[in-house]
Amino acid sequence: MTRYIFITGGVVSSLGKGLASAALGALLQARGYSVRLRKLDPYLNVDPGTMSPTQHGEVYVTDDGAETDLDLGHYERFTGVASRQSDNVTTGRIYQQILAKERRGDFLGGTVQVIPHVTDAIKAFVLNETEGTDFILCEIGGTVGDIESLPFLEAIRQLGNDLPRGQTAFVHATLVPYIAAAGELKTKPTQHSVKELRSIGIQPDVLLCRADRTIPAHEQRKIALFCNVRESAVIQALDCRSIYEVPLAYHAEGFDREVLEVFGIDDAPEADLSRWRDIHGRIESPEGTVKIAVVGKYTDLQDAYKSLGEALVHGGLANQVKVEMQWIESETFEQPDAVQRLEGVDGILVPGGFGERGAEGKIAAATFARTKNVPYFGICFGMQMAVIEAARNLAGLAGASSTEFGTCDDPVVGLMTEWTEGNVLQTRGIDDDKGGTMRLGQYECLLDAGSKVGGVYANGALGNADLEQAIWERHRHRYEVNINYRTALEAVGLRFSGLSPDGTLPEIVELDGHPWFIGVQFHPELKSKPFAPHPLFASFIAAAVDQMRLV
Ligand code: GLN
Repeated sequence: MTRYIFITGGVVSSLGKGLASAALGALLQARGYSVRLRKLDPYLNVDPGTMSPTQHGEVYVTDDGAETDLDLGHYERFTGVASRQSDNVTTGRIYQQILAKERRGDFLGGTVQVIPHVTDAIKAFVLNETEGTDFILCEIGGTVGDIESLPFLEAIRQLGNDLPRGQTAFVHATLVPYIAAAGELKTKPTQHSVKELRSIGIQPDVLLCRADRTIPAHEQRKIALFCNVRESAVIQALDCRSIYEVPLAYHAEGFDREVLEVFGIDDAPEADLSRWRDIHGRIESPEGTVKIAVVGKYTDLQDAYKSLGEALVHGGLANQVKVEMQWIESETFEQPDAVQRLEGVDGILVPGGFGERGAEGKIAAATFARTKNVPYFGICFGMQMAVIEAARNLAGLAGASSTEFGTCDDPVVGLMTEWTEGNVLQTRGIDDDKGGTMRLGQYECLLDAGSKVGGVYANGALGNADLEQAIWERHRHRYEVNINYRTALEAVGLRFSGLSPDGTLPEIVELDGHPWFIGVQFHPELKSKPFAPHPLFASFIAAAVDQMRLV
């Protein structure tokens, strides 16, 4: 039997609802249950793929190529369950489906309405692909009271009646703010938020109350009384030092026990939290700090690089060190000598990005890393910039660039107009729509026997892998390194050590004679987990640790 947990939020956004959902998923898993997490996003974009990272944060890409909300990254990092297209939907996508049906005449002359057509489509989404899963956790984006989220709340309210009794639970996350002038935590916003939810017909079963200090027992009782929940169902959710402490902290407050009780489950196995204790222990007792410069473009909003920051933390966990990230706007390196600012960092990472702005600064960072023997990790755009750098400065191709920035003499990075997916030839034109025109999702890559990166994947250390290996990693890009420049670049030491199985798309480059200089066309950060750090991040941080010892 599949049970459904709906998680809503009130009072303010950015409450950590996504993390709370992910942590609840991890806790249920720790008790031996299988879980899937889903996100319902009320905005009108069909998916976040065309939204600026500075608006919406990172676009999280799944194995099956969906461009999704960054909360799906939290879900995957906390549970290890790979997210799918069927785990994220927006108002835009729901309407797109309904309007397509309407145009086809599928409604047979009927009037198409929010209730039941939109709500039915939302319900169908919630109930799809659930077989064999004990708990589906469904987070509703936005805040109760938003006009946009009404159809979603209506749909989950209906599901509470559609599904057999005892198969649904409603969790509501709120804020209990501290008012300095009064010297008190205030429960009124929570009361109002629950009142709003109840006016829509949803009575929450469990309240997750975020606060920056202990909520006194009498305030918890007051919340229970005014919000019509049991006292034990008022869970205080205090700020944690690290997000990976959240499962431990919420468990200690009885969150998972209380949710299980809503379903009448009082004989659940004890939670095995050893995985989370181990991670917490590593975070609390690092044996040093490495400094990593992340030279990017959306550095004002760290949510734009959510998975990347987490994957670096995981690389630190693998090496028992703290990773201090310095987020640097790449444009700053376009001033003469500004790149010297990188003196003293233990590793340089150039992440994914789009467009010409700041590209020369990233190339300057790659030159610095290459010539000063500082570990360099180029991801997607960061790989493309490293290739341009090597083409210009090692292979003597002064006009080398990417066609993303316009025409150039040596298009070492260019638009891919044809590729195969399975056995099907896919094509694309320069002027095609921007939405959904990228190489997205998981693709196979073959690693060269004897390559440095082969060793990283095989046994976590550079080199030593004798065999060719296949890896699968997630992509999100339009442009590709141009295979026609392979010979010229390999002649100057930039090896193409990972290629697509048909040998046409360079997936990985590595520099000979450098302690650690690797560029990858895919996004390894999307698959890294605190309990299974991605080998590339673990190895990059290990190289940064060596670098730190050198200086
Ligand atoms: N802008 C580059 C491309 O489209 C890189 C994209 C990325 O870094 N994700 O190929």
